[in-house]
Amino acid sequence: MNTRVKYSIIVPVYNEELVIRETYRRLKEVMGRTGESYELLFVNDGSTDLTADIIQRICDWDETVKLINFSRNFGHQIAITAGMDYSVGDAVVVIDADLQDPPELILDMIQKWKDGYDVVYARRIERKGETWFKKQMARIFYRVLQLFTEIDIPLDTGDFRLLDRKVCNEMKRLTEKNRFVRGMVSWVGFRQTAVEYVREERAAGETKYPLKKMIKLSLDGLTSFSLKPLKLAAYGGGILAAAGAIDLLVIALTNLVVAGPVSGWHIMVSTQLLIGGSILAALGIIGEYIGRIYDETRDRPLYIVKDCYGTRKKASGRKG
Ligand code: UDP
Ligand code: MG
Repeated sequence: MNTRVKYSIIVPVYNEELVIRETYRRLKEVMGRTGESYELLFVNDGSTDLTADIIQRICDWDETVKLINFSRNFGHQIAITAGMDYSVGDAVVVIDADLQDPPELILDMIQKWKDGYDVVYARRIERKGETWFKKQMARIFYRVLQLFTEIDIPLDTGDFRLLDRKVCNEMKRLTEKNRFVRGMVSWVGFRQTAVEYVREERAAGETKYPLKKMIKLSLDGLTSFSLKPLKLAAYGGGILAAAGAIDLLVIALTNLVVAGPVSGWHIMVSTQLLIGGSILAALGIIGEYIGRIYDETRDRPLYIVKDCYGTRKKASGRKG
């Protein structure tokens, strides 16, 4: 049996029973065109539908297919991480299961990899079939992220990308619990380049990224790559305190010069709201960081694998 695997395709899946067969068929077709060895590594992130059964059945007769079942839903970014931990290929490609990322683009990525690039990320030049709200949120998020972070995280890219084995190995050394994989890949460095594509609509089913998960991902991105929000809170607080002090001085002076009662109670109330709100906001930002420090110190494994099919590695989590 051929023991060397050239490409590992990592597909995180969460309740994708409607689309998974088609995804498998398309990936098979594209990877067949390379004429080289590959593995399709599905990481089942605690699906509650038939996703795992379908993939397991495919595993039974297709030895290029591997399945890792998590014990529960750990989240997309952790599923990708587990895929990297279990992958054995010389190049690793991460792709969504819903066919929003066209598998055909993998061939372009492979070409760039053969040209000598270590990371090839896919940049969306257009996003189809997503709500106006989601597109705008994503747009603003990537720009704020760029403004706030010191490292260069490319605009409008998701996790659809190819990594050379050496980059993948370096990724394994990054142990943070709240993970923003696309930022971590930028942080690792090496020779990186982009291929462009139009992001299609979901082939079937609905998004597994509700607003709550989007906010979590954005906060992970911001807090793990920037301390500027903390500074912003401090500066904002400083400016407010200074404004308050000047205001008091003005009131005192007016009182002395003009005499008589100055300012109404509503000014008091609004200033209270302003200052109280800012303090709460600043505390909230600090809280976000402290929560993450707490997560890191607890030292729990990143994920728990229930069982695996087709992999050579035994089921295990990952410490740190
Ligand atoms: N996904 C996952 N765990 C989750 C949420 C999503 O593994 O908790 C997978 C999902 O099956 C898909 C990919 O992550 O393969 C991207 O999710 P989705 O397409 O729902 O996100 P969107 O494209 O709407 O942002
Ligand atoms: Mg999607």
